[in-house]
Amino acid sequence: MAEKTKKTEAKKVAKTSSKKATEKPIVEKAKTEKSAKTKSDKSSALSDLSSVNKLRLLYELQVIDSSIDNIRTVRGELPLEVQDLEDEIVGFDTRIKNMVQEIREIESNVSQRKIGVETSKNLIKKYEEQQKNVRNNREFDSLSKELEFQSLEIELNEKNIKELGLKIKEKKREIETTKALLSDKKIALDEKRHELSEITSETAHDEKELISRTDEIKKLIEPRLLTAYNKIRHNARNGLAVVTVKRDACGGCFNKIPPQRQLDIKLSKKVIVCEYCGRILVDADFAGE
Ligand SMILES: [Zn+2]
Repeated sequence: MAEKTKKTEAKKVAKTSSKKATEKPIVEKAKTEKSAKTKSDKSSALSDLSSVNKLRLLYELQVIDSSIDNIRTVRGELPLEVQDLEDEIVGFDTRIKNMVQEIREIESNVSQRKIGVETSKNLIKKYEEQQKNVRNNREFDSLSKELEFQSLEIELNEKNIKELGLKIKEKKREIETTKALLSDKKIALDEKRHELSEITSETAHDEKELISRTDEIKKLIEPRLLTAYNKIRHNARNGLAVVTVKRDACGGCFNKIPPQRQLDIKLSKKVIVCEYCGRILVDADFAGE
């Protein structure tokens, strides 16, 4: 339980409502409602709320929701950055695996060609032996052609072996470069993960606490109003659905509010929305201003 924040909040609300002695602070009120709920039914507890309190609850909900928004903004981009790094690492791993496979294929090509060279050399030996025992010129010429063909085969294979060897070297260099990049990315990922887990554990408790408080408040707000709040909040920039009047203007879109409307807002008799941005407007006193 964030007793401290709860107390501060209660103090703040108590301060703002001290001018109207008949009203209890919101948090106090909320607690009374909760305990009353066990005796009476929910609807009678709700109808017990004055419209001022309705607006105060909405404003309180907004303040806490904004705090939750802040926590999430601080945590912000980190999960995405971690995800990006993880994706990049998978990419580099795949690239390395592919290159290793390519090298294997080239190496098997090289051994095939080496066998080819050996075969040609053996054939040359055999043909040279046969040439010693030929019976006529025709046989000799035919063997000469075979010899010539085999030495061309050796030449071609050796040329290819040389080229493939260079290709392997190139691939190996590429693997080394990629491995270096990969290890940099892994270090960066470790750092980001560490950062994320620190921020998450730091804020998770606060966030949970705030969410449970909004849940309590939401129980006290009529569903229709809550739906409107959520809709406005969802559409509004900065997630602000309830704003105070600041310097005669809407605290959300800063458009001027006519004096009569400001008076109505100050009376807090009903829910009044900004005619420009649609946000719910509340008395500046709610914020303790
Ligand atoms: Zn506005």
